[in-house]
Amino acid sequence: MSQRFFSTKNSGEFVGVKEAVLRSLPADNGLYMPERIEALSDDFWAHWREMSLPEIGVHVARGIFKDSIPSEELEKIVHESANFPAPLVSLGEREHVLELYHGPSLAFKDFGARFMARLMAWLTRDDVGRLTVLVATSGDTGGAVASAFHEVPGTRVVILYPKGKVSDLQEKQLTSLGGNISALEIDGSFDDCQRLVKSAFLKRDMSEELNLTSANSINISRLVPQSFYYFEAAKHLPEGARASFVVPSGNFGNLTAGLLAERLGLKVAHFIAATNRNDVVPEYLREGVYQPRPSVATISNAMDVGAPSNFARMEQLFGGRWESMKERISGFSYDDEMTRATIRRIRRERGYILEPHGAVAWLAAEDWREKHPEDHCIVLETAHPSKFLSVMEEELGKGEVEIPARLACLAELEKVATPMPADEACFHEWLQNLG
Ligand SMILES: *Cc1c(COP(=O)(O)O)cnc(C)c1O
Repeated sequence: MSQRFFSTKNSGEFVGVKEAVLRSLPADNGLYMPERIEALSDDFWAHWREMSLPEIGVHVARGIFKDSIPSEELEKIVHESANFPAPLVSLGEREHVLELYHGPSLAFKDFGARFMARLMAWLTRDDVGRLTVLVATSGDTGGAVASAFHEVPGTRVVILYPKGKVSDLQEKQLTSLGGNISALEIDGSFDDCQRLVKSAFLKRDMSEELNLTSANSINISRLVPQSFYYFEAAKHLPEGARASFVVPSGNFGNLTAGLLAERLGLKVAHFIAATNRNDVVPEYLREGVYQPRPSVATISNAMDVGAPSNFARMEQLFGGRWESMKERISGFSYDDEMTRATIRRIRRERGYILEPHGAVAWLAAEDWREKHPEDHCIVLETAHPSKFLSVMEEELGKGEVEIPARLACLAELEKVATPMPADEACFHEWLQNLG
């Protein structure tokens, strides 16, 4: 049986996997969701604790995509994409950190980007003409997407990033690969980059001619591989333990992936959404009013989101009922001062280095455990501390954070980017000349 996907705005029309993944956004501006998600088979549950991360991944991905992707292909895509570990580090009997940053770009976004790149290449294997992937980034997404699509046949990637607003090493991740990856340094904000990307999709003729697709987290294929590691983490806990997941959140793709894992049958005690001062979702969970607003800048900048794109999927999963959502998810938010103090304190008390996003989640885990001491809390640590070196050095001093070789070596590489004003006509002309 194949899976079908519907738009969160119109649950009456369905598309297949190719359209859902390559179109990314339905025409009605909703988001694609799988029609049917059932619990995984008894056979899976009899053996899942002994399975490796990619073995679990194959079952989870098949649970979502069903027979839309042949088994052999799906296995290959999962094994090639989830090919780095996600270790669960215990800092106390019931306090655990799930390190999701051991992939090539040192952020959890590698899981989604690597899977999406391989799936898109397979879906377009017989198409004439290259696929052109557009992505706007405020930092981590661009690096993960660049590394995932680099040298993937039949694809090219155009990354738009705001000039002067990403860290030096993040910029090198986007601009040093060359080949099928191009970087545009936009004289503007992240919002300008997103606006330019959208404008290209709205020009139908150009969008079709160039075979445009999007690699932002609105794409359903980026969420599926993020469900894998919820199982991977839970398999280490004692049988019958209450596992609560604490997710540092911006666009809420990671948390939505946890909800999909639960629909596939994973036992989860509770979900905890941790945010910085951009607390639209915690406020909704507390008060029942959803009020998107412009984001404010913080040190955990990958979560500086004022209108979380995956909120529509969360609502859909709970049938639009606030009461149901707040029974399963609690929200907490913290400011930069508290985040900085936590980085120092956990280093001192536990000998463990959290980066700003993980520190926000740790704070939420502490608050949750105060009232639920019986829960095992699994804190998702979404990036390696070296990606936020200046904040880390301010709090811990120089030389405390080890810089992995694959990041350190970027410093020597040449940056190649095309400077561009935040202007739609310029951008479209540049795209058209790609040929
Ligand atoms: C993208 C990102 C997040 C936020 O993830 P969402 O899925 O958008 O909620 C958190 N931490 C880091 C380090 C990220 O790069």
